Amino acid sequence: MTHKAVILGTGPAGLTAAVYLARANMEPVVIEGPEPGGQLTLTTEVENYPGFPEGIMGPQLMDDMKKQAERFGAEFKRGWVEDVDMSERPFKLKINGMDDVETDTLIISTGASAKMLGIPGEKENMGKGVSTCATCDGFFFRDKKLVVVGGGDSAMEEANFLTKFASEVQIVHRRNELRASKIMQDRAKANEKITWALNKTPVEMESDGMKISALRVKDNDSGEEEVIETDGIFVAIGHNPNTEFVKGKLDMDDKGYLLVEPGTTNTNVEGVFACGDVQDAKYRQAITAAGTGCMAAMDAERFLEGEAAIDWSHTLS
Ligand SMILES: Cc1cc2nc3c(=O)[nH]c(=O)nc-3n(C[C@H](O)[C@H](O)[C@H](O)COP(=O)(O)OP(=O)(O)OC[C@H]3O[C@@H](n4cnc5c(N)ncnc54)[C@H](O)[C@@H]3O)c2cc1C
Repeated sequence: MTHKAVILGTGPAGLTAAVYLARANMEPVVIEGPEPGGQLTLTTEVENYPGFPEGIMGPQLMDDMKKQAERFGAEFKRGWVEDVDMSERPFKLKINGMDDVETDTLIISTGASAKMLGIPGEKENMGKGVSTCATCDGFFFRDKKLVVVGGGDSAMEEANFLTKFASEVQIVHRRNELRASKIMQDRAKANEKITWALNKTPVEMESDGMKISALRVKDNDSGEEEVIETDGIFVAIGHNPNTEFVKGKLDMDDKGYLLVEPGTTNTNVEGVFACGDVQDAKYRQAITAAGTGCMAAMDAERFLEGEAAIDWSHTLS
C-alpha cells in the first residue's frame, strides 16, 4: 500500500505536520524514531510555548500533541528510518524492524541533536542544571553563577545571552584559542560578566544530589584538576542534524542541515519536505519547529492537490 504522506519524527515539527495532515484527510503515517516526543522529552518545564500561561512540562506537551494528531486519525509506528530510495515516486523507506513503507510525499522532521561532552554527571543532570539551550533555560538562572562550555560562535552567543540573567558566566574551552569569529569574541570579551577558563578540559559535572553544583576541569598543561562551582552548565559545542540517512540524496549545508527553498519547506526532491530543527540551524525552538511543521503539511497537501488537478484536466482533454 502506498501512503499519501509519511512523517519522520515526533518532535513539535512532525506532530504539528501530523495534526494538519490528519485533519486534511491525508491519513499520515508517523515514524517515531529513536526519541519519541523529540528533544522536549529531555527537559522539565517549558515556559515559552504560547498557550500555557503557567508553563507545561516538556513530555506532557509532546504527549498532548500526539493525542491531538491521533484524534484526527494519524497512525504512529515505532522504529526509525535507515534508508530512503528517492530515485522515483512513490518513495521507499527502509525502517528498522518493519516492512518497507511506500509514500507519495515525505516530511522529514528528524531534528538536530545537541553534541554532548560525554563526561560523568552530564546525562544524569540534564534538565537539573545542565542545558544545551540558553534561550530555553536562561530565565531559570536569575542571579546565578553559570558555566558555558565551548569556544565557537554559539558558545559566545549563549554566554552573552545568559549575562542578561546570571551574575557571572564563565566560558570553559579546551584550547587556548577560540574558534568563534572575531566579532563574537570581541563582544564576549567586552562583557564584564563573562570570565574565562581556557585550555581546560571538562572532566566531570558534580551535583548536590538535586542539581548541578560544580564542573571539574583539568588544565591541559599542568594536568591539575580544578573545581569550578556553578549553578548551571550550558553545553554549547554544536548540533548534529539527524540527516545521515539522506546524505548524498538531498541538498544539505556543510554541517548536514537540509536546505529548503526559502519561504517553503521544499527540498530539492519534489514531494520531499523538511521542517523543524533538521533544516534550521538558527532558531531551533519548539514553536518555530511547530510553525514549519504546519508549513510542510500544507506544502505536501498542495503538492498532491496540484498533481491531482493536472491529472484531472488531462483526463478531460
Ligand atoms: C534540554 C532541552 C530543552 C529545551 N527547551 C526548550 C524550551 O523550553 N522551549 C523551546 O521552544 N525549545 C526548547 N528546546 C528546543 C526544542 O526542543 C527543539 O527546538 C524542538 O524539539 C525541535 O523540534 P523538531 O520537531 O524539529 O525535532 P526534535 O524535537 O529533535 O524531534 C526529532 C524527532 O525525529 C525522530 N528521528 C530522528 N532520527 C530519525 C530517523 N532516522 N527516523 C525516524 N525518526 C527519527 C526522533 O525520534 C524525534 O522524534 C529544548 C531542547 C532541549 C534539548
